[in-house]
Amino acid sequence: MQEKLIYNFLLYAVFISALFVFLALWFIKAPYGRHYRKGWGLFTRARLGWIVMESPTVILMAFLFIIGNKSDNLVAIIFLAIWMSHYLQRAFVYPVLMKGGQKRFPLMVIAFALIFNLINTYINGRYLFYFAPDYGLDWLTSSRFVIGLLVFLLGLAINIHSDSILRELRKNNEQGYSIPHRGFFKYVSSPNYLGEIMEWIGWAILTWSLPGLAFAVFTIANLFPRAFSNHRWYRNNFEDYPEHRKAIIPFIL
Ligand code: NDP
Repeated sequence: MQEKLIYNFLLYAVFISALFVFLALWFIKAPYGRHYRKGWGLFTRARLGWIVMESPTVILMAFLFIIGNKSDNLVAIIFLAIWMSHYLQRAFVYPVLMKGGQKRFPLMVIAFALIFNLINTYINGRYLFYFAPDYGLDWLTSSRFVIGLLVFLLGLAINIHSDSILRELRKNNEQGYSIPHRGFFKYVSSPNYLGEIMEWIGWAILTWSLPGLAFAVFTIANLFPRAFSNHRWYRNNFEDYPEHRKAIIPFIL
């Protein structure tokens, strides 16, 4: 079968599965972290789980870059660097620094994330480093690239900063929960998700590509319902939870 057919199938599968994931996650909370519960089969430890499910995004993207037809193209190299700036952090730094990495993490969640990461990395990497027409050096000064990059970098900063605030709440490596008050937590319960969503919206804009859009749509579908689950969880577990704090979009939602 022609590779382009498989690529197109996977691209549209991500859009369609985003719809199902979005609907399902309002009813079923993904069973990890504060929403972990028994009955989801075998599990491993969270730290190992994060490395296993996220590291293929680094390895596969590097492979697709090498076997592609744009490895001497500056724009393609910059796309690769932007991708890696997120995923090297997510796959290797975040899991090492995380507090509570010894908690249970279902293999089923790892399997779903792994499948998504492989498909998503494939469609993004194969498009950018093989199927896409040459972006040309002018792309780097275009408004789409500049605006997209700014949104991506702002999202990356909010995501990393918010995750570091959560880590500081567990100074002695304990596993419990308390109310975060610093940074964007003043405005929303899950600013790390807000940052993550901004990153991939920025990526969609700066690559101006359908795989980039598919990734942004899927991230919203995945993290919006969970942000509301987290918000409800905080309200149910802390009587003094700040009343005006929103779930994910400051002052709005
Ligand atoms: P959470 O905010 O639920 O948890 C992040 C870390 O902080 C976990 O180690 C968690 O511990 C800990 N934590 C959370 N709340 C508190 C609290 N109130 N007090 C103390 N510690 C706390 O994020 P996720 O685990 O869902 O996601 C982790 C990262 O991965 C985020 O940056 C997120 O954006 C990203 N991600 C991206 C996805 C995507 O679709 N691109 C999908 C899912 C995540 P514990 O595990 O014990 O709850």
